[in-house]
Parts: sequence; structure tokens; C-alpha cells
Amino acid sequence: MPTRTKQPGSITVICGCMFSGKTDELIRLVRRALYARKRVQVFKSALDTRTDNTVISTHDGVRFQAIAVPDARTLEALLDPRVHVVGIEEVQFFDEAIVPLCQRLADRGTEVIVAGLDQDFRGMPFGVMPTLLALAENVIKLHAICKVCGGEATRTQRLVNGRPASWNEPTILIGAEETYEARCRRCHRVRNAPIHSARGTHPMPPTRTPEVTDPRQLEMFMEPEVDNEG
Ligand SMILES: [Zn+2]
Repeated sequence: MPTRTKQPGSITVICGCMFSGKTDELIRLVRRALYARKRVQVFKSALDTRTDNTVISTHDGVRFQAIAVPDARTLEALLDPRVHVVGIEEVQFFDEAIVPLCQRLADRGTEVIVAGLDQDFRGMPFGVMPTLLALAENVIKLHAICKVCGGEATRTQRLVNGRPASWNEPTILIGAEETYEARCRRCHRVRNAPIHSARGTHPMPPTRTPEVTDPRQLEMFMEPEVDNEG
């Protein structure tokens, strides 16, 4: 764990759907730190199979050196004690221990910059992302272009043999025959999706709300006035 520095640390989360430019933004912020002569380390999840284990790369082919780690514990063990800026790519793939690690780093004055998918293929919060988003000093939410309508995309469409994936499929597929597209809320499709009944989007329970049309009826719901006179 890096030693405590005088400057205040922070957590920055770069989030959005696939093809929204999260990696470009992470590389931009990390390069800026290098220009400022800060010591930088960039990590990525070993689950990210898009490139080899020593680089992160954007869809446009921009590459940056990174260390692939299987979990938060390994990441912590590889931290340079003098590091100023820690970048983490595909942070949604990490275990829950990544959250307290980011907190401890930021508490010690480290600038933590993480990039990840905020929603899974179902359009639901992805793993540790909601917690990191809540704890972050800075949130950068990026959008892509919807492959169907050309609007602003916030979701990742998973397609299996050209068909929308089913709700019950695993969140993380490695080496499967699926493809992904950026889509907007309206064009995003999930087969067998429960309607507003999933984790995080529970509909409000039905409550008996009195419908008051006549103001005099309001008195029925008010505390009775106490007569102090007499
Ligand atoms: Zn659309």
C-alpha cells in the first residue's frame, strides 16, 4: 500500500456502455498524469481477453501499458509504494475487495481512476460499479451511438447468433459466440426480461393513497383538533 501523501486523493469513475470511449478517456487522463511527472500504474482485469496481458487498447487500436491481474488482492500486492495515480480498466470484472482498496488508496492521497461498464447486458447495475459510482469524487458518464436508431446509446446489447440474449444468461461470458452493440433505452432488447421486477428496479408496492377530490374530505385524514377551551 502506498504511503500517505500530502495531496488529497480521489476516485474518478469513467463509465458507460460498450463503444462509449471509456478506455480512450482512461488513457487520456493517465497520459495527462504522466505529463505532470506523476508515477502511474495501470491495471486491468485478467478477464479482459480483448488484448494481451500487458496492454489496454481502445477499439481504435490505441494502446497503453497495463498489468493484468485476476483480483483486487493481486493488484494491491503489485502496487508501487510511491505511486501517485492508479488506473484500473474493466473494473466491473473485479471482486468486491476492489472497493475498499480504491477507498484506502484515495484516503492515502492516491488518484484512483477506474473505467468500467455501469450496466450489464440486461441494462442492470454491473457488479461493484454502483458502489464505486456512489463513493467517487468524479463521475464521467460517456455515451455511444445507438446501432439501430443513431440516438444516444447508454446500454450494451448482447446478441447471440444475431438474436437478443436472454435475461437468464450469465453476466460475464468468456470466449462465447456473442456480439455486442451499443443501443439506446428504446432499442435495447432482452429476451424473457421481467418487467421492472429485477434487482434495483422494484416497482413501488401498491399503497392505499386516499384520493381526495373534495377539500372537506381532507379532514378525515387530519389529526382531530383538541378543544382546549372550556
Ligand atoms: Zn436506439
